[in-house]
Amino acid sequence: MNTSLRQTALNTLANEIIAAGVCSDLAAQATQLVMGYGRADADIVFIGEAPGKKEDEQGRPFVGASGKFLDEMLATVGMSRNDVYITNIVKYRPPNNRDPLTKEKVAFWPYLLRQLEIIQPKLVITLGRHSMEYFLPDTKIGDIHGQPQTVTLNGNNVIVMPLFHPAAALYNGGLRQTLIDDFAKVPEVVKRATTT
Ligand code: URA
Repeated sequence: MNTSLRQTALNTLANEIIAAGVCSDLAAQATQLVMGYGRADADIVFIGEAPGKKEDEQGRPFVGASGKFLDEMLATVGMSRNDVYITNIVKYRPPNNRDPLTKEKVAFWPYLLRQLEIIQPKLVITLGRHSMEYFLPDTKIGDIHGQPQTVTLNGNNVIVMPLFHPAAALYNGGLRQTLIDDFAKVPEVVKRATTT
């Protein structure tokens, strides 16, 4: 599928989420669905938790403080958000920025899988434990952050690399450096993933 067909498929999927009334209580309080941003045929997909206030207002993921940090880290490896695809496991803002509930993550998980089926990335980077726990159940982020894992998704092998969430690292110097160090491995990991 070429890029524009993939983008059309992503738009159709977004309309389907709205029409199906997924997490209608969250939808009722949110400004809009935040589906994702970036290349519909990206090799790398980043997956956070859920939109915050700014993301809800603008309809794009990671446009607040953690998004700025993510942009900075992308720049350190010579990339920008236009080279990748960025989304969240939960696609409506939870009220008062509370953590997404299990039932919300469960409701959105099949749509996330379909989103990945359309994009067909070589590398999935989870940001924080909320998205990690669905790709890598029974793991701890403190044990496996920055370590690529092979996962079968939609019948294909995909490399999943769990990273700490930029929001957690923003105000914690130690975690911040760990995240920067883990991020430095991204070019090598994606290169390996695209040649195997
Ligand atoms: N944090 C997230 O997990 N996702 C966003 O889109 C913004 C902040």
